[in-house]
Amino acid sequence: MTVITRFAPSPTGKIHIGNLRPAIINWMFAKSAGGQFMLRLDDTDQERSTEAYAEGIKTDLKWLGLNWDIEASQSKRFDKYDAVVERLKEEGRLYPCFETADELERKRKRQMARGMPPVYDRSALELSDKDRAILIAEGRTPHWRFKLEDKSVVWQDLVRGEQSIEASSLSDPILIREDGTYLYTLPSVIDDIEFKVSHVIRGEDHVANTGAQIQIFEALGAEPPQFAHHNLLVGKDGEGLSKRLGSLSIESFREDGFEAMAVVSHAATIGSSNPIVPHQSTDSIASEFGFEKLSRSPARFDVAELELLNAKLLHEMDFSLVEARLSELGVEGGEAFWNAVKGNIEKFQDVSFWWQVVEGPIEPVIEDAEFCSKAADLLPKGTYDEESWSAFTGAVKEATGAKGKALFHPLRLALTGQPHGPELKFLLPLIGEKRAAGRLRGEAT
Ligand code: GLU
Repeated sequence: MTVITRFAPSPTGKIHIGNLRPAIINWMFAKSAGGQFMLRLDDTDQERSTEAYAEGIKTDLKWLGLNWDIEASQSKRFDKYDAVVERLKEEGRLYPCFETADELERKRKRQMARGMPPVYDRSALELSDKDRAILIAEGRTPHWRFKLEDKSVVWQDLVRGEQSIEASSLSDPILIREDGTYLYTLPSVIDDIEFKVSHVIRGEDHVANTGAQIQIFEALGAEPPQFAHHNLLVGKDGEGLSKRLGSLSIESFREDGFEAMAVVSHAATIGSSNPIVPHQSTDSIASEFGFEKLSRSPARFDVAELELLNAKLLHEMDFSLVEARLSELGVEGGEAFWNAVKGNIEKFQDVSFWWQVVEGPIEPVIEDAEFCSKAADLLPKGTYDEESWSAFTGAVKEATGAKGKALFHPLRLALTGQPHGPELKFLLPLIGEKRAAGRLRGEAT
């Protein structure tokens, strides 16, 4: 069997850390199984879906390196859905209902007051042709429900194990709204059949939908795909993510200077038994994927963890991966500079700060002018290498008697203007003799 998975967002908003997880999990599983990954835009709600959101989703996925092999938009496939609807109507599996939202709400309240589950009572099925004609003449337009078969729906969930739902505990799902628009439920099944989707992998908030959708697959004469429902993300205090979604969008992570691979590494491993460690490429992540590694309980997302992971990723990053980005920023220090500073940055753009420290001008901090000027006299001549720093500090130590912090701290303050930073044995060759001498003498150079 060829594995085909799909990520099926509705372009009614931005991708955020929560709905990025199904994208990554579907992508990883497809890659690890040598299969294909599909991007399906569930844009049947044409009022809320926008081209801008659809483009934004694609931009985010490309930035993250989650490339897709197949693409489709539901809004371009209405004729397919309409044909299936005709068939389901003829077979009596799709039936018109005329209750208003208010009426349905009242029914639900009555049922709950009687201690009954708020399941749709199918009273629309009692309507005669004449009743329906009267309602239509009154100007009412129906919404359409799929008639579930009264039986238990059972499937082997790849994350949750055997699942069983009594169809009688579900309301017949509405497939078409009163205004004629489709909910995603039926188009999704039709597309999954047509695009030969082998695995439907999505959040556990869809478990009840799966019960109904398996019956729709069967009604259409198709073998249902395999299902996997992953755990959901909550905020760091256990609250739902929905309130803060704006600040958790992938776009905002990108604008805040996070590395794509930090976001991918985090989203791919959070809520699983794989360690949350930085991956430099998507390939190594995909090969570690396994459904059995996904936890059953909600996973907590804390942006502070993403920040740490981002820093770690940079600390381990090879120069070849950043060479082009450094020159885009006008940083010319090459590999020596990158290796000197990468351990001291949290976001990539912090390199500009350290490049400014190397290139100057900076305001040196001189705590003891006499000590610093004596040190300036002792600077080695010519071009420096990694040995120059110990030769220099050895000479200063001998001449002044200073050692330990009393030796190194004033030199760092004078040479960089900063109390902390990358190792000076790496920075000094980049700063060079002329600038180092100037700074030790208190010049802003
Ligand atoms: N458009 C649906 C959603 O975003 C897709 C669910 C599914 O994967 O089937 O929730």
